Amino acid sequence: MKKILIINTGGTFSSVENGSGLAPGISGEQITDLLSPEPDMCRLKIEDYCSLDSANISPDDWRKISQRISRAAEACDGVVIIHGTDVMAYTASMLSFMLLHVPIPVILTGSQLPLFASMTDAVDNFQSAVQMALTGKKGVYVVFSRKIMLGCRTSKVRTVSFDAFESINYPQAGEFNAKGLQLNESVLPGQEGSFSLCPVYSDKIAVLKVFPGISPDIFSYLYDKGYEGVFIEGFGLGGVPFMKNNLLREIDRASAKGMPILVGSQCRYEGSDLSVYETGQRVKACGGIPVYDMTQEATVTKLMWCLGQTKDRGEIQRFFQTNFVNEVTLTCKNK
Ligand code: ASP
Repeated sequence: MKKILIINTGGTFSSVENGSGLAPGISGEQITDLLSPEPDMCRLKIEDYCSLDSANISPDDWRKISQRISRAAEACDGVVIIHGTDVMAYTASMLSFMLLHVPIPVILTGSQLPLFASMTDAVDNFQSAVQMALTGKKGVYVVFSRKIMLGCRTSKVRTVSFDAFESINYPQAGEFNAKGLQLNESVLPGQEGSFSLCPVYSDKIAVLKVFPGISPDIFSYLYDKGYEGVFIEGFGLGGVPFMKNNLLREIDRASAKGMPILVGSQCRYEGSDLSVYETGQRVKACGGIPVYDMTQEATVTKLMWCLGQTKDRGEIQRFFQTNFVNEVTLTCKNK
């Protein structure tokens, strides 16, 4: 019989009202007591990793969780992680990189209402996640509101609706409908490739959302404070100002000193393309590294992960020209 490991980390799923708002408080045992599937379907083993609102999840948790999953891959057929929805897309993205070619399904899920609330979506999401874990399809996925999405392509796009997540710039990996579990096999991660656990990271990074009037000094501040990489969310296709608020001189300087500066878009959909406008071409000529159509969550975690492996700017650039887990569509124009 198949064995599924459930790792409980908290989030709304396991929250209760504690007098100062909703906070995680339901144990893994209570969860499985309520939600155990038919006894002949599979065996669940549950572990309480932590009991956190996901706002308090840190990169060190990603390291520990990836190491736990790597060990579990030898003994279990799949893993389901119960996680707060707010940071779930970051965790799913980072686990996709740290657990390259993971040999079992790793499914993240959570809920918009606590397990014990009436009308909760927790039961449905949990059961869907277990079903997906039982398919044996390798890779890291988010399963939520009957959708199956690649972890590295997922973003939380709604704060209150049950349909809180979307697959960004990439087709959904599948869904549950009246015909049961329907997988879109052509978009699943490659089922070949040898597994490598790579749980390294640097958290000395910054995300800079450009706005009209932004002051360019921020770059020298970040460099002087020891930051190792910056992700700039530019305007539209990735434009960065070069006139009155000239960021390019500072980007050029920081790149020349070896700091990788990534450039993407503030727009969630359809990706960036630095080849179209002068504001894009110039930032690229100054050393800006394009991130194409990656989500903000995948870009941030990929940058952290790359910097855990090397501090060399050229190497980082090569990492960002590599599609590891279908996190990016490398368009020729931007190369
Ligand atoms: N604040 C919660 C969390 O991310 C929200 C949720 O789980 O839906 O932990």
